[in-house]
Amino acid sequence: MGNKIFAPKGTRDILPKEVKAWEMVEGKIKEICSAFNYKQIRVPDFEHYALFDRGVGESTDIVSKEMYTLNHRGSDVFALKPEGTSSVIRAFIEHGMTSGITPTKLYYITSCFRSERPQKGRQRQFHQFGIEAIGSYSASMDAEVIMLVDTLFSELKIKGLELRINSVGCPKCRSDYYERLKNFVEPFKNELCEDCQDRLSKNPMRILDCKNEHCKTLLKEAPLMVDYLCEDCKEHFESVKEYLNSAGIDFVVDPKIVRGLDYYTQTAFEFVSTDLGSQGTVCGGGRYNGLVKMIGGSDTPGVGFGLGLERLMLIMEEQGLLNDMEEDGIDIYLAPVGKDALKIAFKSFRELTKKGIKSGIDVMDRSLKAQMKYANKVNTKYTAILGEDELNKGVYTVRNMGTKEQEEIKIENLTEYIKGSLGE
Ligand code: ATP
Ligand code: MG
Repeated sequence: MGNKIFAPKGTRDILPKEVKAWEMVEGKIKEICSAFNYKQIRVPDFEHYALFDRGVGESTDIVSKEMYTLNHRGSDVFALKPEGTSSVIRAFIEHGMTSGITPTKLYYITSCFRSERPQKGRQRQFHQFGIEAIGSYSASMDAEVIMLVDTLFSELKIKGLELRINSVGCPKCRSDYYERLKNFVEPFKNELCEDCQDRLSKNPMRILDCKNEHCKTLLKEAPLMVDYLCEDCKEHFESVKEYLNSAGIDFVVDPKIVRGLDYYTQTAFEFVSTDLGSQGTVCGGGRYNGLVKMIGGSDTPGVGFGLGLERLMLIMEEQGLLNDMEEDGIDIYLAPVGKDALKIAFKSFRELTKKGIKSGIDVMDRSLKAQMKYANKVNTKYTAILGEDELNKGVYTVRNMGTKEQEEIKIENLTEYIKGSLGE
């Protein structure tokens, strides 16, 4: 016998007893997306490396450190997708969805892959629910996107999530701001971590997002983009806040949130839980007016978010929202004794399952006694016994497992009888 093979580090099996909770959450997502008129899109798990190099950005941790790349026969280089947005925008451009109704509103539930150090709420394969609203510059679009995810949280009865919003401006206001930021750090530039030094040349705003404690301290008093927005960006940000207020959605302004790439513009937001420590961000999103053009489309604005489903499930578990999600039992278990009875019971089994009635039948050649034990374990509502006596009479002895009452039912009437009883 060979050694046991385990699942790769950072992956996780979602076992049958957990799937119910996942289906419940996915069901809510579908309901809410439908209420907001977002259409589902399914994209591949791998793409050309270049898509993420451009779409997410070569200077981000995601691309430079966390991406799984695939060398296919030494030629094309592919990558497992680390996020959903780039793929969805690629598909939007590829299928000419530009020319449809504007805005194009899409959602996805998909696997993402990042080579990170696994820990609670951080895996190497995880799932994201996300939406992309493509084609609108308006602040009301940003507010709608935020409202959709806020609706999901309240429908799932999740408490204690804080919505934090910011504006990262546009290329116009950002270049001035970058000068200020660079001037600010100039005196202690060399004290910043290596990553931040690199960010300074490629994407200065990202230093504000650094997790390094020393960098955080040094940058405590750093100038903030929100204080230097141009008129358009300022007005856009004010409008987002007004629409959120008018919809009754609470938020705080957090000037340190950055989605710091050139094509991210204006609104940036996060939903953060204080329960999950450094894995507290459940959902991150924002506006990306430069992205569609960046990956080969026409100049088209967009806004969206990505929400980590594993983190969402962790929070729900901690808040006791996933209790009472036990496996269901079945409706009827057929207990034939002997091969002749089994053949007849198989015909009934065919009928029952075709009607969508949850049914079971002996597949272990068990004795009647063992079958009754099994019937109890699988938590069946009814058991239909077909022994020698019953076979002679052409009936099943149907036992209601709750009341323990028994009744003889003609073999050919079993399905109707069960259907009727379940309907009561
Ligand atoms: P973090 O700061 O926690 O690394 P991030 O900024 O890398 O998050 P995004 O790229 O914005 O995350 O992805 C959106 C969401 O996807 C996150 O808010 C989180 O819920 C989830 N997510 C990201 N990386 C992982 C991971 N490795 N495992 C599980 N969920 C993840
Ligand atoms: Mg990350």
